[in-house]
Amino acid sequence: VTFEDFNFNRQILDAVAAAGYTEPTPIQQKAIPPISNGQDVMGIAQTGTGKTAAYVLPLLMKLKYAQGEAPRALIISPTRELAMQIEENIKAYAINTDLRTVVLYGGLGPKTQIEQLQKGVDIIVASPGRFLDLYIAGHIVTKALQVLVLDEADKMMDMGFMPQINRILEVVPRKRQNLLFSATMSDKIHLLAGNFLEFPTVIEV
Ligand code: AMP
Repeated sequence: VTFEDFNFNRQILDAVAAAGYTEPTPIQQKAIPPISNGQDVMGIAQTGTGKTAAYVLPLLMKLKYAQGEAPRALIISPTRELAMQIEENIKAYAINTDLRTVVLYGGLGPKTQIEQLQKGVDIIVASPGRFLDLYIAGHIVTKALQVLVLDEADKMMDMGFMPQINRILEVVPRKRQNLLFSATMSDKIHLLAGNFLEFPTVIEV
């Protein structure tokens, strides 16, 4: 399997090559086709397996590599560190596209984040709390969201973010693609998956 086997356009293949990736990792080989087909996916994979590219690359394709009127993808991360890392990856993979990404997390004032939202973004990477704060303050339009990703979902459950996740699920469109990544499988993740995913494809690496 090569990256050419997926239906990515030239901009993405060039960016992947520029990142030095020669072949897709196992999670990428298994997850990219169903995600590209629009299915809900639950991926059981540790950080370090290439799980970020496994969902970001098909996401860029779904957004047609082009800007939209309002945010179309929301990626929720339990920690600021992971959120920043995801944003960095997106920037690298989307370097040849016009897609705009913002990363929203707490611990600093929201002014710059609000300004970025006002200028327009296509992809939001956010911690649950800061996303909800900015949503409640009226800074985030959710009506165009097509894809919702919960990354490191087990960590989110461990950190007690279930209520925030449930609240987020209430403010995003019902019709959307859902992707859930977790390093481990547990009762809590099962419960979350049951609420969150529709007929998911389950992938373990
Ligand atoms: P992640 O599991 O998403 O945190 O990725 C772990 C590391 O693997 C990151 O530094 C990525 O840049 C790198 N990576 C992702 N996909 C590939 C690939 N297909 N080939 C080589 N490295 C990769």
